[in-house]
Amino acid sequence: MASSSDEKTTLCFIGVSNCVPDVGGETACVLLNGTVLVDAGWNAALHMRQFGCDPLHVTHVFITHCHHDHYLGLAPLFFYRAMSDISRQEQERLVVVGPRTEIGMAVERALAYLQTDRYLDAAAPVDVVPLRPGAEFETDRLHVRTIQVMHPTLAMCYRFEDKRTGATVAVTGDTAYYAPLGRFAAGVDVLIHEASAGPGSLDPLLQRGHSGAVDAARIAQEARPKRLYLVHCSEQGRAEALEAAREIFPETHVPREGDTIELPFCGPECETT
Ligand SMILES: [Zn+2]
Ligand SMILES: [Zn+2]
Repeated sequence: MASSSDEKTTLCFIGVSNCVPDVGGETACVLLNGTVLVDAGWNAALHMRQFGCDPLHVTHVFITHCHHDHYLGLAPLFFYRAMSDISRQEQERLVVVGPRTEIGMAVERALAYLQTDRYLDAAAPVDVVPLRPGAEFETDRLHVRTIQVMHPTLAMCYRFEDKRTGATVAVTGDTAYYAPLGRFAAGVDVLIHEASAGPGSLDPLLQRGHSGAVDAARIAQEARPKRLYLVHCSEQGRAEALEAAREIFPETHVPREGDTIELPFCGPECETT
């Protein structure tokens, strides 16, 4: 279960699946410190609740890119907050951060889907922050850096640093093998890299713009995170992907949905996964 301890950074894997999750699963998205959601899978808000995380505690959503499996959960999250908070006078505004050319439209259309012109209370208040790749962003607790990755639409990797604990987490979102990610994510505690193309390697010049486990491990070899987590893999392919990546980068893991880790890592006796 995620907690918002000041002493530790928590990271909960709300979803780990590929574009179309298996029954009961969720597309890759993670929750930092119980308050910052990175990508919003199909039904991220309800999935958070399964793991003891309260969607009302979310202050920021960082969208890596505006392909459907990464933002579909925005509208249900807005709706959940509106319905749950409807009697409260004080609704904290949710901040949605994403690629500058697309995030405004994605949020606008999520609100249109909720018919907020007819049902004024159908969505909680939202602020949109469009970011260009390379821009930096601050929350009260996090310093966030960005870099554009290789994907058919504008897509960004986020590098989060928890100003209270010093812990660092990089989330690639969808990307082909992209060597500059190794430098961008250098020395992070956790690198969360997609491996949707299976255990092998995918030609980065293919239009799909995705990675295999070997591609992710090669980035980790360069970045030297304390741990590499592979996400966005099909359930059937996870064991094979893990094996392939560990041959290159032994500290590779494949998380399960609901797994929560605490950072910075302090040795085997106090790690939770
Ligand atoms: Zn994508
Ligand atoms: Zn995706």
